[in-house]
Amino acid sequence: MIKEKKSLKASKSPSRRKFFKTAAATGVAAVAASSLAAPAVAAERVEAAMVATWPRDFPGLGTGAQRLAKRIADMSDGRIQVTYYAANERVKAFDSFDEVASGNSQMYHGADYYWVKKHPAFGYFTASPFGFTYSEINAWIHHAGGQELWDELTDDFGTQSFIAGNTGVQMGGWFNKKIRSANDLKGLKMRMPGLGGQVLGKLGGSPISLPGGQIYENLVSGAIDATEWVGPWNDEAMKFHEAAKYYYYPGMHEPGSMLACGVNKSWFTSLTKSDQTIIKTACAWADEITMAEYNAKNGAALARLVNENGVKLEKFNDKVYDAFAKGAQEVYDEVQQHSDLAARVHKAFVKARKEIGAWTNLSDSPYISQRNRALGIS
Ligand code: CA
Repeated sequence: MIKEKKSLKASKSPSRRKFFKTAAATGVAAVAASSLAAPAVAAERVEAAMVATWPRDFPGLGTGAQRLAKRIADMSDGRIQVTYYAANERVKAFDSFDEVASGNSQMYHGADYYWVKKHPAFGYFTASPFGFTYSEINAWIHHAGGQELWDELTDDFGTQSFIAGNTGVQMGGWFNKKIRSANDLKGLKMRMPGLGGQVLGKLGGSPISLPGGQIYENLVSGAIDATEWVGPWNDEAMKFHEAAKYYYYPGMHEPGSMLACGVNKSWFTSLTKSDQTIIKTACAWADEITMAEYNAKNGAALARLVNENGVKLEKFNDKVYDAFAKGAQEVYDEVQQHSDLAARVHKAFVKARKEIGAWTNLSDSPYISQRNRALGIS
């Protein structure tokens, strides 16, 4: 009964009336009538392979990507099947981009700053030194022209990227000595990818880009002197506290690292609008849910690191931060020279940082500072 009512109601709508009129005129009335009882064409099953830059089950990053793959299947009642491959299960972590650009796989989950050697502007679309926080980068991407620039960048490679997670402000890293001035960074071999790594290079350090699964062994063996990774929840799982004593904050290099779901563009645009929307909506959901998980778990993990594992928590002083800022400016000066697109992305980034950052400065920052001061929260 209910079904009939719905059909009846639908047939009375102006658009339906118009459709019947057109259909009758073109001699396909019989097909149109049968479509009232059931969809004329069954939605197609879609199969996609998603490769990732993260180890399987790695908290937040790996689990977040796996959750996204499952969410896409759930949102489509299993019609869109995404087979997930963690790093090294189908391709190596840093081969994920080429895998999707070539069409061998349809999707990747990773961090787009891993591709800065392909184009330095990729650095802006994960996190960049002295850049955006989580809420700021989302404002830029969704509402202030960021996605359009990101699309222009990826278009040259035959891919498209969507926000699909965020780690929040990252920690400054793990060291075996105190960092009192920029001099202490000279000669330091440190794992730090993206443009942040290049800032370290400007200060005389040796930045090294290693996928997550290889950092611990390199730190333990002494092949690298220091590393950054993410924050307490992830870093605790990596057991860096077994190899380094000082844990610095805050990281200037990744103030809100945006994770990306990259798709092969010709595959993606071959999907129905509805399926494209399912995937994009699942990515936006993954962004929010991942950030929430980091915020929920970082505090307790930090307490365990300090209280149970003897980690020394240290804050970068103003002198070190000023040196980072100078190095960052040198890096940005170079990035802008790369190409017209790099210059435009940089310009847009600076403008958005100023405008969106002015509001953060008047809202989140003073509120949190006043709340914690008045209530004695530290
Ligand atoms: Ca990092």
